[in-house]
Amino acid sequence: MPNHPLTTQAYNAKPNHRPAKILLLLAFILSVIACQQKVESYKTSIFSFGTVIEVEVAGINEKLAEQVFKTIEEDLQRMHVYWHPWQAGALSRTNKLCGMAGTFSAAISVIPLIQKAQVLAKQSDNLFNPAIGNLIQLWGFQQDEFENNTVPDDAEIQALVKANPRMSDIHISGVRITCDNPDVRLDFGGIAKGFALEKIISNITQTYGVKNMIINAGGDLKAIGKHGDRPWHIGIRDPFSTDKNTAFASIEVNSGDSIFTSGNYERYYMANNKRIHHIIDPRTGYPAKDSMSVTVIHPDATTADAAATALFVAGPKQWVEIAQKMGIEYVLLIDDKQNVYVTQAMLDRVKFVKEPKNLLVFRP
Ligand code: AMP
Ligand code: MG
Repeated sequence: MPNHPLTTQAYNAKPNHRPAKILLLLAFILSVIACQQKVESYKTSIFSFGTVIEVEVAGINEKLAEQVFKTIEEDLQRMHVYWHPWQAGALSRTNKLCGMAGTFSAAISVIPLIQKAQVLAKQSDNLFNPAIGNLIQLWGFQQDEFENNTVPDDAEIQALVKANPRMSDIHISGVRITCDNPDVRLDFGGIAKGFALEKIISNITQTYGVKNMIINAGGDLKAIGKHGDRPWHIGIRDPFSTDKNTAFASIEVNSGDSIFTSGNYERYYMANNKRIHHIIDPRTGYPAKDSMSVTVIHPDATTADAAATALFVAGPKQWVEIAQKMGIEYVLLIDDKQNVYVTQAMLDRVKFVKEPKNLLVFRP
């Protein structure tokens, strides 16, 4: 298997023990058989969406796993081109045509994502607003390297805030799109990974009947089924540490969970001793203040991705209101004063590696 270095892991089924002697004996025999029948899992790593994506499948044979990995890799590369914010593809064509007056036919690959983003933007009171591509570009985040960026001119920022591009400026009829606002520029950096993970899981379960799978894109993940005899855990990075491997907390991953984190350490540059990060508050046109990181759990990966971005913008004062509007039950927000805000539901699932200085629990 040249393209997919697979490793196998074994786990053993556990028998039920019952008091009756005969059942005990049966249980013993079963456990011996189970020890011999190893359920295998296979792993691979794929580089896509600017990050290493780790995939693990269990309960299928090696040949099928190989096919599954090949499909996932092809799908990821295709989706990355469709939805890339600045490289030539279906989205950049849509953006170009949005800037001109009139109606045009959009590529079928972008329409469902636009529609989903419209719903999520509305639910978040437009704090998640992927129509602000011009602002994201002005701050210099529509490029791979931004260490040498400088802070843009305030007048330019204010002009783009005043232009007020919104997802509701886009009207879709079949494959025809009309943009009411010429300043709409779509940047799906805050949602595309979630949308891709959701699509991949549903495609692989339907096409190959896979029931146990986890796909982890640099700490943002979706899982279904079981992955071994021990539950999966995901580490939540300490946003105050420069070491990306220092964990602040860990969360057990259940079947059907999508867990997404937005953090100000992901993409940033320094200017005047300040961290200029990539999550922009559409109301001010500046990088969102107060939050360091937000982690969200939701069954739908697209919603989890958009919500983590929206709640980061909402910050400590508004996150409860926006989480409720978006229907998000599990939230963990760390602010720049080291306060930790959680919903009770999240607190029940999280294990702190570093005890929070000040823990504020929201009980609905
Ligand atoms: P995430 O890491 O999922 O929070 O996504 C951050 C990315 O989303 C940025 O790099 C931008 O491409 C884009 N983005 C920045 N600010 C916003 C916003 N307020 N709403 C939607 N997308 C945004
Ligand atoms: Mg996001």
